[in-house]
Amino acid sequence: MIKLSCLSLFQIVCFLCSSTALANIDYIKPFDVDFVHYHAKLEPDFKDQSVAGIVQIDFMPIAKNVRTLTFSAEYKSIKSINLNGKPAQFSLHDKQLIIDTSKSLSAEKLNTLAIEYQAKPRRGMRFHEDHLYTVYHTKNWLVAHNNINDKASFELELIHDKKLISQGNGLMLSQKKLGEHQVISHWHQPNAMPIYTFGFALGEFESFTQKVNETTFSFLYTKGSELSKKSIQNAFSDVPDMLQFFEQKSGFPLPQGTYAYVIVEGRIAQESAGFSLVGERFVHTVLKNKSENWFIAHELAHEWWGNSVTCANFSHFWLNEGLVQFLVAAYKQHLFGEQAYKDEINVAIRRVKRAVKENRVAPVAFYNEINEQEINRTMAYSKGALVFYMLREKLGDKLFWQALKQYTMTYKDKSVTTQDLKSSFEKTTSKDLSDFFNRWVYGHEIPTLQL
Ligand SMILES: [Zn+2]
Repeated sequence: MIKLSCLSLFQIVCFLCSSTALANIDYIKPFDVDFVHYHAKLEPDFKDQSVAGIVQIDFMPIAKNVRTLTFSAEYKSIKSINLNGKPAQFSLHDKQLIIDTSKSLSAEKLNTLAIEYQAKPRRGMRFHEDHLYTVYHTKNWLVAHNNINDKASFELELIHDKKLISQGNGLMLSQKKLGEHQVISHWHQPNAMPIYTFGFALGEFESFTQKVNETTFSFLYTKGSELSKKSIQNAFSDVPDMLQFFEQKSGFPLPQGTYAYVIVEGRIAQESAGFSLVGERFVHTVLKNKSENWFIAHELAHEWWGNSVTCANFSHFWLNEGLVQFLVAAYKQHLFGEQAYKDEINVAIRRVKRAVKENRVAPVAFYNEINEQEINRTMAYSKGALVFYMLREKLGDKLFWQALKQYTMTYKDKSVTTQDLKSSFEKTTSKDLSDFFNRWVYGHEIPTLQL
């Protein structure tokens, strides 16, 4: 599903008449195909560190005369491709899979690709002796497009040993026996999500669930872990309060009514749709010091800001990460008091100061589109968080939280640009925020804050 454009009729008129207006519109690269739904049936191979199976992709051309479809072929071998039930011609060039549709596909008509393949990704999937999980780079293990502006729903049928436990996106619809030793776990993510949030974990996990009103939280951890059910319950004891806080700030409940934390070794904090991977090291830290619970809040907050309301391209990455970093600070203020908020904002100030010293300064957002490698993470995460801090100071608590809630509800399950945030805040607060955004978001200026 696609955010086609953020241009209003008024902006289009300005766009045509004035080059100044052109510079003040967030640019979204147009594209000609809308990928709607993915349905994969996959079997991971622990020994070979690979995954094999078939993915069905439902898509709709937007442009007329679509003749080719391009996906990443990195780490993959393609066995067969069918388009609408008939074999399709394809070629591999420079790590790209190019599918020839043989004739032009009609715009606005749904088509289905079925691709049988094997992937052996060196990035995006991590194999351990008794468990494995995917991390962020979906296109490395799934034949998928890589445009974060085009969200899609996802079904995953995972074939695995019946002794293993799986975690996928959304809800598990069923688990069926396959022969004597295997099962097929069928996961379904009905809401359209950015592709990088598609994923799964599988392993000899221990697990338990916890009900928080209507929401079920699952906790999965490896059998060899030093952690126990009790220590995990202790480390994650603030989760019910976090859930309430983010639901209140966003204006709507946790999208699927379920959420899982998959606890794996090391230091990892990565959100997927409906679950996150969190590192054992972080869990041990929070057991020693309760105020180190940032990663638990950060990944949960992404369910609303990042997964549901998603930046339309990497020029607006701060709308995922800067906002979530700010919200973690605001949550800590709610839980631990004013000093905890200041401490968290001070961390962002220090990181930005270091970036200035090292000459790593850039705007927080860009009118033109930048690619993922061009993201300045300190600016997107830390200066981004400071921008939200300053916006809260400028508007006052009542207006700020009202505007954030309105923005989040308006763009639920959609993609956003910085201009969408600006317009939404301006509408709710009846204030012109042009100077603020030009100076702090699109400009290079670094705020001198002292808390
Ligand atoms: Zn994040």
